Amino acid sequence: MQPTITAYEYSTITQQVNHLVSVNRSVNDRQVRAAILAQTLDCITPLLPSAAPATEAFLTGLQVDWLTRADAAQLLETLVPMVVPFPQLTAKQLAKLFRKVKKLKQPTWADLKRYELTYLGWNDGGNQKKYLVAPYHDQLIGIQGELSPKTVKGVCAICQTIGNVALFMATTKASGLGTYTKKGNYICRDSNQCNRQLTDPQALTDFLTVVQPKRH
Ligand SMILES: [Zn+2]
Repeated sequence: MQPTITAYEYSTITQQVNHLVSVNRSVNDRQVRAAILAQTLDCITPLLPSAAPATEAFLTGLQVDWLTRADAAQLLETLVPMVVPFPQLTAKQLAKLFRKVKKLKQPTWADLKRYELTYLGWNDGGNQKKYLVAPYHDQLIGIQGELSPKTVKGVCAICQTIGNVALFMATTKASGLGTYTKKGNYICRDSNQCNRQLTDPQALTDFLTVVQPKRH
């Protein structure tokens, strides 16, 4: 079966299910619990492939009296084969996306859960750099910039969630003359955490529109 769930839809499902677990732990009122369960099912059912046995098993698994965090984690795991993963790029493919970077630090692929990634982001801590690879108008683009070592609490421009963010100044070639402009945005320091919080890809697209290198 072809994977059909996007990474941000998977993040939505994960957040919904985790919310359901919290409700199960904290709310005793049967009616309230039933209402929250109905809401959860309404939200996530359209994101799952219809008439698939795995979907049915997942939805049935959620409809138990006391859903535990461990049960939920196990259920979410069953969806992973249905999620379209972020492509694993070779060093050569990455080099093409970051032509200006001489020694590109590679992402640690082994640590990445590609089914959680709407975009790929990694830090080169030593050089205070962040690299982003993201889908934009049906192709992957590379964005590089400086990441401030200072972490603050704030809203991330990409996932629109309050968390540990840092100022990211994209290095953008503004004209054919080779001058660079810098545009600053606060984004999550940890891009993997950012992806887990990213449920609406529109903000990512808007962010990329601002920071992408202009083509002439
Ligand atoms: Zn974020």
